[in-house]
Amino acid sequence: MGPENRGEFILDADDVESRMKGIQQHVTNMEQSIEKTLLYWLSQRDNSLAEQTDMPITASRLENIVNELVQAGAGTVCCRQSGQEVQHEQLILEDDDRKPGNNYDRLVCPHGHILLAIDTGHFSVIPNY
Ligand SMILES: [Zn+2]
Repeated sequence: MGPENRGEFILDADDVESRMKGIQQHVTNMEQSIEKTLLYWLSQRDNSLAEQTDMPITASRLENIVNELVQAGAGTVCCRQSGQEVQHEQLILEDDDRKPGNNYDRLVCPHGHILLAIDTGHFSVIPNY
């Protein structure tokens, strides 16, 4: 996650695991090995422990998984800047709306702090001659 992201996302490991398993195609070998490591780590968890555990590594598509799960109403979202929990209905979603250049989807807290910025891809325009 980028340094500008102020969000802390607490998600159910089962949700993250099933999501990751569902999207294993179309990634580079590097990404695949990172995701395999994460999946292995997830599979080793002890569900009887209620404590939160920080993810040991981050995969680039993890941001998208977090974004999807949170927008689906899962998990708990906290803003580190505000120091408080943000309810799902308080989350503001900003979208660059496919402008040329880098596009971001942003989850923003009610106080305007960026919780998560997701690079949704680079869009280029071809000038008309
Ligand atoms: Zn905030």
